[in-house]
Amino acid sequence: MNQHTRFNLPICLAVEEDAFFHSDEIIKRYIPEIIGQKTIVISEQFLIDLYKEKITDISSDFGNAEIFAMNDASFDEAVAIAKKVCIEDIKVIIGIGGGRVLDTAKYAAHVSKAVYICMPTSLSNDSLASPFSVLETEGKARKTIACKIPTAIIVDTNMITNAPIGQTLSGIGDTIAKHTALFDWKLSASKTSENVEDFAYALARMSYDSVYHCDEKNLKSRVFIRILSRALVMGGLAMEIAGSSRPCSGSEHLFAHAIEEYYPQIKISHGLAVAMGSIPACIFQGQTPEGLINFFHTYGLDFNPKTYGITEDMFADMWYKARSVRKGRITILSEISHDRAQLNNIYNRMVES
Ligand SMILES: [Zn+2]
Repeated sequence: MNQHTRFNLPICLAVEEDAFFHSDEIIKRYIPEIIGQKTIVISEQFLIDLYKEKITDISSDFGNAEIFAMNDASFDEAVAIAKKVCIEDIKVIIGIGGGRVLDTAKYAAHVSKAVYICMPTSLSNDSLASPFSVLETEGKARKTIACKIPTAIIVDTNMITNAPIGQTLSGIGDTIAKHTALFDWKLSASKTSENVEDFAYALARMSYDSVYHCDEKNLKSRVFIRILSRALVMGGLAMEIAGSSRPCSGSEHLFAHAIEEYYPQIKISHGLAVAMGSIPACIFQGQTPEGLINFFHTYGLDFNPKTYGITEDMFADMWYKARSVRKGRITILSEISHDRAQLNNIYNRMVES
């Protein structure tokens, strides 16, 4: 497939203190033609209550835009919003929230062809600027659907500083996962006619490097938030350029998908699940996991399966299920046999370290 000419890039990535209070000025700087166009703000009720001042300010800055509280992050909800946007001649969608809101708003914008401005309230994963939305569908747990990336991404550093630390750690986990994902992408390309897009590879690698080698260890600092925001957005762009999630998603993501689909009772965020998966993935790939383990310790990212109620048996079963959770995706799991003794070993190493 020739993907070289078929990608979009966002026009604006602003990471500023109190950016939500002057989002209109930011937009005016980059995409002035949007100002004055009919706009809708999509969020969730608890966020609208929690961030009342900022969200009301955004609404009034964009011509008293309607503030719409979405119900669920489902395909139906996204399409219902798209329908409303089309019927009411709305031209701009602003999504304010976490992954649920942003994925729904992104898909609604894709369907309605509205301009999409993404304003995250937390940095929990790289779906911020990715060309995919993860939405609930009838009968199936969740489905990843291709869509257009945002036109503008505005990150308010104060907002992220005040978000629960677990969400930032989750974003770190999703970024660090690129290490094993890129290995798997190369492996897959060597076994098939698939290409590793050099530029997408480089972007994902830089995204990983910028966080892995970051000198700033304070997760609440503006410097770190800026680095993590850029890393997550670069991950999204790598997927856009590659035309697939391969630069950011390998065997560690298959592990996270297996938890999501077969163990919905396990409460663990996407980014922490992939962080947990990246240690065994590293070992399967013949790479040493010491660097990742030390890195996670530095930031206080807990990858001990026991913390999340994952037993040794469940852990082994999750890796077994990971092999078939996304048919056709070649990773290191396609190359190795399922070795229970090795998995028990890894489990115990993760519990003890
Ligand atoms: Zn991810």
